[in-house]
Amino acid sequence: MTDSVNEFAARRNDILKRIAAAAKAADRLAADVALVGVSKKQPDTRIEHALAAGQRVFGENRVQEAQARWDGRRADYADLELRLIGPLQTNKAQDAVALFDVIETLDRPKLAKALKAAMEKTGRTPRLYVQVNTGEEDQKAGIAPPDLAGFLTSLREDFGFQIEGLMCIPPVEDPAGPHFALLADLAAANGIEKLSMGMSGDYETAVKFGATSVRVGSALFGERPSA
Ligand SMILES: *Cc1c(COP(=O)(O)O)cnc(C)c1O
Repeated sequence: MTDSVNEFAARRNDILKRIAAAAKAADRLAADVALVGVSKKQPDTRIEHALAAGQRVFGENRVQEAQARWDGRRADYADLELRLIGPLQTNKAQDAVALFDVIETLDRPKLAKALKAAMEKTGRTPRLYVQVNTGEEDQKAGIAPPDLAGFLTSLREDFGFQIEGLMCIPPVEDPAGPHFALLADLAAANGIEKLSMGMSGDYETAVKFGATSVRVGSALFGERPSA
């Protein structure tokens, strides 16, 4: 895959078309699905191409890498929206709150406490998503589905947090559809409107099941350099 603004724009338009078609097939509006460009580990030239092509919503999975990439660009793009989609350690909570507009990976009380303190200190209030470990995988972040309702109650009552959405990363070996359906059911049962689900290989499926944002990395930017 070669790199230019035009080639980025062509890939982006193709993905937006596919999102629109999947939305239409599900009786949904394309405008209700945001394309989050997952820029983690991508070379800087590709970030510049993305910005030149009009992409404004980006997902990053590491706080420090995101700071290095975005701190200096913030001032140039008033409509930039940065989303943290990777696991967050409590000692990085303040940096995350200072940088991100959306934190999608809230999954434990200790992190809620750290985020609350960081918000009070910085005066910033990023929108929050709870990550759900739909496959109940030992090694994966996220709250287990049976614990979600209690966690949401605690977030509301103990921390005063309004949770905007739920996020999941299905197990790689499973078909994604049932995990997306489960996340949609959990959101509906708990009165939550937004669903962050779907990546390069399955974002059309995610739209079918109600995704309001899809996190697309390699299909949009090209393969991440492995180094
Ligand atoms: C890397 C990553 C993505 C994007 O993955 P692609 O397969 O490159 O689209 C999406 N979500 C999360 C949480 C990620 O870490």
